[in-house]
Amino acid sequence: MAKYVYDFTEGNRNLKDLLGGKGANLAEMTNLGLPVPPGFTITTEACRHYLAEGAVPDGLEDEVATHLAALETSMGRKLGQADDPLLVSVRSGAKFSMPGMMDTVLNIGLNDESVQGLAKQAGGNERFAWDSYRRLIQMFGKTVLGIEGELFEEALDAVKSSRQDTDLTAGELRGLVETYKGIVREQTGRDFPAEPREQMRLAVQAVFESWNAPRAILYRRQERIPADLGTAVNIVAMVFGNVGPDSGTGVAFTRDPSTGHQGVYGDYLQNAQGEDVVAGIRNTIPLQELERLDKNSYDELMQIMQTLENHYKDLCDIEFTIERGKLWMLQTRVGKRTAAAAFRIATQLVDQGLISLDEAVTRVDGDQLARLMFPRFDASAGRKEITKGMNASPGAAVGKAVFSSERAVELAAQGEDVILVRRETNPDDLSGMIAARGVLTSRGGKTSHAAVVARGMGKTCVCGAEQLEVSASERRFTAPDGVVVNEGDVISIDGSTGEVFLGEVPVVDSPVVEYFEGRQVDDELVKAVDRIMNRADEVRRLRVRANADTIDDAARARRFGAQGIGLCRTEHMFLGERRQLVEDLVLAADDKERQAALDALEPLQKEDFTGIFRAMGELPVTIRLIDPPLHEFLPDLTEMSVKVATGDATDKDRKLLAAVKRLHEQNPMLGLRGVRLGLVIPGLFAMQVRAIAEAAREVPGARPEIMIPLVAAVQELEAVREEAASILRQIGVDALIGTMIETPRAALTAGQIAEAAEFFSFGTNDLTQMTWGFSRDDVEASFFSRYLELGVFGVSPFETLDRDGVGRLVKLAADEGRATREDLHLGICGEHGGDPDSVHFCHEAGLDYVSCSPFRIPVARLEAGRAALAGNDSDTR
Ligand code: ADP
Ligand code: MG
Ligand code: MG
Repeated sequence: MAKYVYDFTEGNRNLKDLLGGKGANLAEMTNLGLPVPPGFTITTEACRHYLAEGAVPDGLEDEVATHLAALETSMGRKLGQADDPLLVSVRSGAKFSMPGMMDTVLNIGLNDESVQGLAKQAGGNERFAWDSYRRLIQMFGKTVLGIEGELFEEALDAVKSSRQDTDLTAGELRGLVETYKGIVREQTGRDFPAEPREQMRLAVQAVFESWNAPRAILYRRQERIPADLGTAVNIVAMVFGNVGPDSGTGVAFTRDPSTGHQGVYGDYLQNAQGEDVVAGIRNTIPLQELERLDKNSYDELMQIMQTLENHYKDLCDIEFTIERGKLWMLQTRVGKRTAAAAFRIATQLVDQGLISLDEAVTRVDGDQLARLMFPRFDASAGRKEITKGMNASPGAAVGKAVFSSERAVELAAQGEDVILVRRETNPDDLSGMIAARGVLTSRGGKTSHAAVVARGMGKTCVCGAEQLEVSASERRFTAPDGVVVNEGDVISIDGSTGEVFLGEVPVVDSPVVEYFEGRQVDDELVKAVDRIMNRADEVRRLRVRANADTIDDAARARRFGAQGIGLCRTEHMFLGERRQLVEDLVLAADDKERQAALDALEPLQKEDFTGIFRAMGELPVTIRLIDPPLHEFLPDLTEMSVKVATGDATDKDRKLLAAVKRLHEQNPMLGLRGVRLGLVIPGLFAMQVRAIAEAAREVPGARPEIMIPLVAAVQELEAVREEAASILRQIGVDALIGTMIETPRAALTAGQIAEAAEFFSFGTNDLTQMTWGFSRDDVEASFFSRYLELGVFGVSPFETLDRDGVGRLVKLAADEGRATREDLHLGICGEHGGDPDSVHFCHEAGLDYVSCSPFRIPVARLEAGRAALAGNDSDTR
């Protein structure tokens, strides 16, 4: 029989798929002997069953009852027992952490009777008992019964008026419980369920359902977390941070998550429960001050944090509660961190002897590296700092201030850059945070919602800028010295320093880019990047080439570590003043006129290639013969029609208009382009090949490779190959001749095509278009968001190579091509070459190299190293 429930003593950290991250790590801490309140975990499998069938699986209720009974025995109390109740929390926890996105209910088991028993347990502390009870109804009402949370908050505010929640008396809290029960009755037409087991059962189902809450769906899409994992549910014996001033609750990191520096980082709140710390209801104190309040607990906490770091060999973040001087651990996980911190921490852990350098390479990823290459603010520019907050998530963001998420989404949709400014964010702000360039809050620390979520998304964030008075209703904030920023005013925020500037501050290159450019940079982060990159280069099997069409791009690609050019497009060489010559080519009335146009183009092409060969030295350069349809080089149809109609057209204009009409295609993507041009327009490819060969002859060491695009049948390739080979022979230059594999038929007949090709380069943009039948420019804008919503794919197949479909074609073509020609050289060009997951795929498929845009080269190098080290297990979220 399936097992759906695991006691904390049964699990461990490797069971995240089944127990979720929270459950797996609670089990791990339990087994390390750390003080974790006892409890058990209902598996993600049970959740998936519930979401698919609308009912919990058979046997789950019995299994839960058995585990609850065991928990009751070990605690010596029964759930909700009137005179001496056991209370539990019911907590969500998926495989990947989704901070605040799903539901948790605390204090389950309280009702009008057991609240008295709870007071008795706490030595007659009625205030504490009624505070816990009102919290239960509030959380349960909101998350399980779906009641608007504000109704409860307003009722609380009415009783509190200007006091803090801790000032409320037992009597007032008791009154609040009555008010809350009234709200529940009014909103749902039923009484708050008093029966403890019923409370627990409903809470478990609500947690299951919270997997599909809109904000959770949005978060998953953003973070590329698969939609079908489901969440586990943890049932944990309650411990209480709200018993009095000798109790409290807190969060902490074992290192600074934005710099990686070791030290004490966290927030603590006395006499408080759970979410209070991050919700910003009262001001937290820095964790250091706990030492003064409760030295024993503080020392124990420091000890535990060290244990956790040594055990997980990584930065951990933790949640803890102190109940009357006794410390309890409520959560830990390998903490999210900024990109810079990831590199620093990885190398620090190597220096501490905790992990190997290879392990360090697997601890960082290409997305983080790409983030480090973002520009920063120019420190030498004149700039007006208006305040400083906490450096919660790095980056330099400039945009118009907006004060609500709706407005952020609205303006971003109009193409505006915006900065979302809030007192604090909550999970409902997610859409606004995604839309914004950066996030600025006036409250909350590095562990606040805004900070955690922004770091996860790699979004610039400054939080806790306490000098700012933010008014969402008036759509403005006031800064010191009377500075007022209204909606629409431009501000600049620096997430690496916490600085906030008025107006737009210019940006400059990051030191990491300077380093890749080969300039000497003395910087701790750059040293960490250098060590990791060197190791990645040593271990990777895949080579990395660049897509570069100009001398500048080629030179940069080389500085960034490219081992050749994988795709040099030739079409841009027909633009600008040379359009004229393409027009002549198209309008040529006979062979002589056509040859004249080609003869004029040849020396220009040769010059282009000489420059690129010089820039690349002895590294290979794959040149793709002209690919786009020729009408792309001609003037616009409407423009010409107007010109002709209004009578100020020349004779050539009239001929051009006729040509434009003649060459017009319904579906240019599938029309006269690529190899088809070479076969239809005599002399066109020959001219390019001659230019390549002449250029190569002039640059000693040049290694040209000639690539034919859009081939679908070996016969096409054979026809152009023969001509090209004879030109090469004539001029006396050696060059590989190969083809792109970018039509499904080419992939399917790769065994034949390899007879005529010395290399394949997978053109995965076109291959994706043709395999899915998607015209990229049309579909991305019109319905991809719907497809993502529906989960047709988790990420656009144009961003990350679709392993199941396109990937299968690539694999098949690679295998069958190599079966024909053992030394067939295999690469990929197209944007996928710089996408981390796709690089891993290319490694696994046995390709020789990936080719990507110059700026992505470091990312591809790193990911190729990680792929070589990690095998297929690249679980970095
Ligand atoms: P999230 O996933 O949003 O962090 P959690 O399940 O961790 O939600 O719970 C929210 C808060 O409630 C946390 O601060 C946690 O420490 C606290 N909490 C959860 N279970 C208990 C418990 N059994 N006793 C005391 N506090 C708890
Ligand atoms: Mg938590
Ligand atoms: Mg193509």
